[in-house]
Amino acid sequence: MQNDLEMLLKLQNIDYDLEELDRSREYLPDMINNLKKEMEEVSRTLKESEERLTQQVLQRKKLELDIEEINSELTKFQKQMRDIKTNREYDALVTEIANRKTKISESEEELLKILTEIDELQDKVKEYKERVVEVDKNNRVQLESLGKEMDSIGIKIKQKQDERKNNSVRINKLMLATYERVKKVKGGAAVVSVKKRACSGCYKSLPPQKIQEIKKGESLITCDSCGRILIWTDEE
Ligand SMILES: [Zn+2]
Repeated sequence: MQNDLEMLLKLQNIDYDLEELDRSREYLPDMINNLKKEMEEVSRTLKESEERLTQQVLQRKKLELDIEEINSELTKFQKQMRDIKTNREYDALVTEIANRKTKISESEEELLKILTEIDELQDKVKEYKERVVEVDKNNRVQLESLGKEMDSIGIKIKQKQDERKNNSVRINKLMLATYERVKKVKGGAAVVSVKKRACSGCYKSLPPQKIQEIKKGESLITCDSCGRILIWTDEE
């Protein structure tokens, strides 16, 4: 019986491993996807900043040309002032000059904003480029190891299932049936040890007589309260 109980405990450990492998098979694809998503995300952020930078550099050039053009118009109007013949001509020129000066000042203001943004974007692009390199490096290593884990998980599960089968056939049928039933109803541990004179599955105190029987390990003893199979492990 002692040997059967040991085999049962071994079976329980195999089942724990199998549950763990099943969980891995479920969460590994999520982990892999999250790592890939993170890589895409940082690349996209970099690309967006680079595009905005290119766009603002073009806008800067356009504004600089605009200002240059308005300036030459202004110079032209200022020269015409010397050859004024009528008041009407004078008024018209004054309006044109004022108009150009306003335009120049507006464009210069906009240009200043763009120059500031270009500065910020250049810093961001530099930062994002480093981030892309870092994330790519980290995630590729992780993806490689997760990929290997994913590839081998099927084999590992098959091995554990074989191990379970070999183990099961050597266990007393009644014990195995009790184990399977408790496992199904309670989930988790079906074989539990006595701790502090109580069942460590449900924490219900055990009578001294029962503890003696469990210590002997000569028969299958279950907890009256939760039905789990009780074993003695000297861990008290
Ligand atoms: Zn119990």
